[in-house]
Amino acid sequence: MALRGGIDLGGTKMQAVVLDDQHQVRGQARGQTPLQGEPADVARAMAAVLREAAGEAQVDPAELTAIGVGSPGQVDSAAGTVTNAANLPGWRGTFPLAQALGDELRTTVRITNDVGAATDAEALLGAGHDLASFIAVYWGTGVGGAFVQGGRRWRGRGFAGEIGHVIVKADGARCPCGKRGHMEAYAGRRAMEERARRLAEEGHHTVLFKLMEQKGRDRLTSGIWEKALEHGDEVAKEVVDRAYRALGAGVASAVNFLDPEGVVLGGGLGIRFGEPAAERLSEEMRPHLFADQRPPAVRVARLGDLGGAIGASLLVTQAAPAGVSA
Ligand SMILES: [Zn+2]
Repeated sequence: MALRGGIDLGGTKMQAVVLDDQHQVRGQARGQTPLQGEPADVARAMAAVLREAAGEAQVDPAELTAIGVGSPGQVDSAAGTVTNAANLPGWRGTFPLAQALGDELRTTVRITNDVGAATDAEALLGAGHDLASFIAVYWGTGVGGAFVQGGRRWRGRGFAGEIGHVIVKADGARCPCGKRGHMEAYAGRRAMEERARRLAEEGHHTVLFKLMEQKGRDRLTSGIWEKALEHGDEVAKEVVDRAYRALGAGVASAVNFLDPEGVVLGGGLGIRFGEPAAERLSEEMRPHLFADQRPPAVRVARLGDLGGAIGASLLVTQAAPAGVSA
């Protein structure tokens, strides 16, 4: 039985899986991404999480056929390097992550970008497997995306799929990327937090930051947003409504251009809010759709939090969908 590994490296957490050749998860583990230090520390933490997943699968990491990694930042798959991963500690230049991790775990490591990995997993094994074409939308700290047709991701010249940076309002709010009016400037978790903070400073009552303190967190996580909405928090509701309006406009624009069969919604917030979020997105898209008599199906990413790690592991299989690589 050939076993392989996959690691999804995120800004707050890292997820590792060990899968068999039927794509069944034999072991999994999750860890916190170090907030301090440098890339080598991140690589060591990744190795530890993978070892834990391998332990659950009762295999030595060195016996894995290979390990695939989904990483943020600029990924060079051929060189096995990651450059300028802004959400990871001290990651300013280029780091040879494949080699560092391969040395630690004594097996071959390949790297792809995180959004691509999660999308490939949904295309082959998840919510997109029966769709001839779909747009993936990852609603999290930022808003990532991809377009898949016939199992292949459209790459463009390397930067395709940046759905978070479609314009929903000309000269609108400043996006974390520096430009104005992008969807992510309204719908990204980071932008939502800034908006909530401003409203709180203006004197609007909210439980958001109290919940953050109680949970000992340093940011408004998906779980905190969910809890605040359950409390009927007005600020949370306003900010989330604004995010949905932006997502509706931005995703509908992409649908008008590409006419896909479906939209697959993932990401920390997308997975957390689940089916109601898919329904709400569908609703918010409707007034903007050109061909509104036949809207695309909107589905929640089926592989959930494991999608990124499973997708990364596909990188090292022969069963990889045609689109797999950076
Ligand atoms: Zn932007």
